Amino acid sequence: MAEENPTDEDHGYRLFPQRDRRNPKKASFMSTLYLLKFSCKNRLKIAMQQNPQVKILLDAMSKAGCTAYLDRHFACEECDTNVAGGFDSATSEVVLCQNTIANQHQMNRVVTHELIHAFDHCRAQVDFLSNMRHLACTEVGF
Ligand SMILES: [Zn+2]
Repeated sequence: MAEENPTDEDHGYRLFPQRDRRNPKKASFMSTLYLLKFSCKNRLKIAMQQNPQVKILLDAMSKAGCTAYLDRHFACEECDTNVAGGFDSATSEVVLCQNTIANQHQMNRVVTHELIHAFDHCRAQVDFLSNMRHLACTEVGF
């Protein structure tokens, strides 16, 4: 029954790790990552639904037989701080850097740029430099 009686030091906080003041660093790091991913996905959705260039490219890709799906062909990830995005030809995924894309305008630009790589890849079916693991292009943030 000892487990059901929190000790003086515990106060039951083990059940709510983000409220545990003994471990504030880890908790805030995890929630920062969560928030970054959330706002990255949100900005991506807005870009796909509202940005004219992005919409034109998505439409052109569909017509070329390479429909790009939000959940399959786009990934929000942590990147080196010098890059904002990339296109991974091995997985046909647009990588968006959740830690460096700072606003909607930048998201629109990065998505547009990477979709051009995706479109080229779709049309040409090129194996970039005969290296399937090659990340086609990494973009400088600004
Ligand atoms: Zn590029």
